This record gives sequence, C-alpha cells and structure tokens, in this order.
Amino acid sequence: MRISELSNPYGATGARPTAGEIVDRPWRMLIGGAATEAASGDTMDVINPADETVVTRIPLGGAADIDAAVEAALAAAPAWAATSVADRARALVALAEAIEAHGEELAWTDTIDNGSPIGVMRGDFRAAVAELRYFAGLALQLRGETIPVADHDAFDYTLRDPFGVVGRIVPWNHPLMFAAARIAAPLLAGNTVVLKPAEATSLSALRLGELAAGLVPPGVLNIVPGLGPDAGERLVTHPDVPRIAFTGSSATGRRVQARAASAAVKTVTLELGGKNPLIVFADADVHAAVDGAMAGMNFTWQGQSCGSTSRLLVHSSLFEEVVTEVGRRMDAMRLGDPADPATDIGPLVSAEHYRKVTSYIRAGLSDPALRLVAGGSALHRPGYYVRPTLFSAPAGPSGPLFQEEIFGPVLVAAPFESYDQAITEANALPYGLTASVWTTDLHTAMAAARDLRAGYVWVNASSAHIPGAAFGGVKNSGVGREEGMQELESYTQPKNVYVRF
Ligand code: NAD
Repeated sequence: MRISELSNPYGATGARPTAGEIVDRPWRMLIGGAATEAASGDTMDVINPADETVVTRIPLGGAADIDAAVEAALAAAPAWAATSVADRARALVALAEAIEAHGEELAWTDTIDNGSPIGVMRGDFRAAVAELRYFAGLALQLRGETIPVADHDAFDYTLRDPFGVVGRIVPWNHPLMFAAARIAAPLLAGNTVVLKPAEATSLSALRLGELAAGLVPPGVLNIVPGLGPDAGERLVTHPDVPRIAFTGSSATGRRVQARAASAAVKTVTLELGGKNPLIVFADADVHAAVDGAMAGMNFTWQGQSCGSTSRLLVHSSLFEEVVTEVGRRMDAMRLGDPADPATDIGPLVSAEHYRKVTSYIRAGLSDPALRLVAGGSALHRPGYYVRPTLFSAPAGPSGPLFQEEIFGPVLVAAPFESYDQAITEANALPYGLTASVWTTDLHTAMAAARDLRAGYVWVNASSAHIPGAAFGGVKNSGVGREEGMQELESYTQPKNVYVRF
C-alpha cells in the first residue's frame, strides 16, 4: 500500500509502525499545484533524533524554488481573493478533515522527524485541526466598518484587502501544527501562501502539501523546504511578497525584519523566543504551583516551546520546598524512545540543538552560583537525549542560564523576598512572551497581570492555549498576535472608501 493511500492504519490496532513504513518514500515540494523536486536536484537527509539514523531524503529547496513558488502564488492570488470567503472557509474545513483522517500517520511522521513522543504529536494534529476549524468559523467576521460622515451626501466605509502573497516561515518544535494552523488565517483572508518549514522537520509539511493539493487551486498553497539563510531569506526579500509572518528565534526574527526592510516596505509579524518567568508567591497553593511549574516547562516536548516558563521565581519561604519537589518530579520523568507511549520525554530535535542545550548544562555545572537539583546529564546512547535538568540559584538569579533562551528541558530557579523584587526580576530581560503567576490573593494576581511585561499571562495556570486567545510577545519576543481575530485581520490591509453621492 502506498503511504498516500493510508488513512488511520495504526490508531485502531495500536501497532507501532517502523520509521521506514511511514517516511521511506519519495518526497516532493508543492509548487503551483505540482509535486516537484528542487530545481538544483539537491536533497537533504532526514535524521530520526531518536537514533540518529537517516530515514529518508527530501528536496532541498533554494532561491530558484522560492522564486517559482512565489510566481505560482502571485498568479493564483487574484482568483483566490475573488473566491467567496465562504468557499475559502470550506477549503480550510476540507483541509482540517484531511488532516484528521490522516492524523495518526501525521503524528508518527512528526515523532520520527522531531523526536517528541507520539502522544504529544497526536495532540499537535488535533490542535492543527482545531485551529483550521476555528479560523473557518471566523470567515464572516472578516469585515470592515462604516465611519459616520457629517455630510448626508457622502458615505465612508472600509474594505479589508488581502496582501497577495504571504511568506510563512515556521520552526521545528510543532512541525505539522505550525505548518497547518499558521496557513489558515492568511488563506482565509484571501492571500496565497508560500510556506517554508524548518529544515530539521519538513516531512509533515510536505505531506500536508500532498493532502492540500486537491483541496485548494494550484498555486494557492506552495510548500518549499530549505535552509533559512538561503530559501528563507529569498522568501523574506522577494519583491513580490509584501507580507512576512515568521515564527522562530529572536535573533533570526531581527534579521528577518532587517532583511525584509532591505528589499521593500513589508508587513512583518514575528513570533519569537522567550525566557518566561513563573512566579510562586508566598500565599500560593504549593502543590498546584509545582504542577504548574512542571506543565509550564512543556517537558513532553523536551521543553522546546517558546512559551515554556523556564525561569522559576519562588518566594523564599517556599523556595526549598518547591525546588525539591519540582526536582523530584523531573527526576521521575521517563526519558526515552518517543515511539513508546509510556515515554514522558523524548530526544531533542537535532545534533545541533543537542550541542546547544548540553553546552548550557555544562556551563551550569561549572557555575559556583548554581546548584544542580535534577538531571544534568545526557543518555549515553544514540539519539539526542538530555535529562530534564534543574539548577537552583539560592543567592539569586545569575549568569546566562537565567538570561538566555535555552529552548530545552533546562529549568532555573531563584528565590525572591518581595512582590516588587519578583516583578522587577521577571521583567528584567529583553524578552516578554509569557508569564505565570501563582497566588491565592486576587489583588496580587491582578496586580501582577498588570505589571508583568509579557504578551500572555497565566494566573494559577501555565502552558494552556485557548482558541481565540491571541498569543504573541512584547520586546524581543515579537510583534503581532496569532491564534485569534487579530491574526486574521493582520493578513488584510484596510482600505478606506469615501463616496460622495
Ligand atoms: P530559527 O529562528 O533558527 O528558525 C526558524 C525558521 O526560520 C526556520 O524555518 C529556519 O529555516 C528559518 N530561518 C533561519 N534563518 C533564516 C533567515 N536568515 N531568513 C529567513 N528564515 C530563516 O528558530 P528554530 O530554532 O527553528 O526555532 C526555535 C525558536 O523559535 C525558539 O527561539 C522559540 O522560542 C521560537 N518559537 C517561537 C514561537 C512563538 O509563537 N513565539 C513558537 C515556536 C517557536
């Protein structure tokens, strides 16, 4: 049976497929509705982070492929914009149904490609389906406004025009979820899309392209995998791509903003990194806060989440208790094969990322201000496995482990004495994505929600995303908001129309 004929072959039996069964086959990009190889003929290896084996090869798209994709997207743009918004919504629903029908296959594809445990990757395809349906449901909310005019012989209103071609660049931590969910708003708004998935995890995006090929007209969705500095930068600087939406690291986001501006005035939104604080005040429910600290780290995808609350700030009266319990829970996590449903935490995504995360752990181990509470080592076997690691800094936050986004299963903890000290520390970094506050006092909760400089604040909660609640950062964590109405509107340009009768 060809993989394209598979629907949900593993869910019913619970059987565990091999990597070869899922991904060992020819892979093609999607350009202008056609499955294509890279113009150069180049390919790149796909490595399973669980065992470091090369499981397949995919086309390595470059500038010529981006140019071809943009050309196709530009040609398709007028007809797609002229399609009724109800029909565009129907296409999103059809895509959601296709993903749902192939969910099990897509989840295994991501597990093999990205290393996150299979249960978590099943959650990702469901999240993608939910987002596509959510945006489809917003279709009729996409409207302009009428503006009062004093003169009775005139009328003023706004239209929401699509941009044309949107360049959509996504990272590797939620491969299918980002690829599928983040094309919903631009497509619904009447734009065509060129999607560049992350080089480490392009498989499920390519599969998405196969599923979408019959559901949207040729050129409406184009998917070109390739390296950031090559394919990514060509997309960002392409003169026919006026709207760029980027999710990735703050350093790359700043470069994207600069490179885009070097080509033309473009509308650029950025969803970037974070070093997010979780604050446990003295009156917090300690057990709930410990649960929240564990959930907030998103250990089930190895801490590889922009929203992870990777700075634990605890009132000194609770510090030892919270740190000891969080460390105990981290040590109890089952680290191992992501294809095993009993696994809590799998390997990091790539050798490069493994080197980065373990270099932070080594720096922590040699920093006299830090005390190792949990983890601190890797597994000595093939695969990029790092134990969930907790460092505490009893004398207060210190060094790069408290300042830089590690994007792995590394948590740092420090005590504080007062509300002001906690908020000052939380706001001290150039990031501002999420923050989590634990308290039983309404005044403290509301004050902290006001005072924290972050785009998304949880009170007595962490990690949760609510459909329709806008997600995004302040400072170097980004510009723009996604997952809500603002995302949809951000893919339109308001046009004012003044009519004199
Ligand atoms: P990255 O910035 O290295 O890469 C992200 C994407 O950008 C990839 O597709 C990459 O190929 C591309 N890219 C790289 N260089 C480029 C360039 N010069 N021009 C154009 N594109 C380029 O990030 P990553 O390591 O893949 O992902 C992890 C980062 O993403 C973390 O910092 C994390 O916090 C962030 N992230 C943010 C959010 C959010 O919603 N705020 C969500 C997920 C991840």
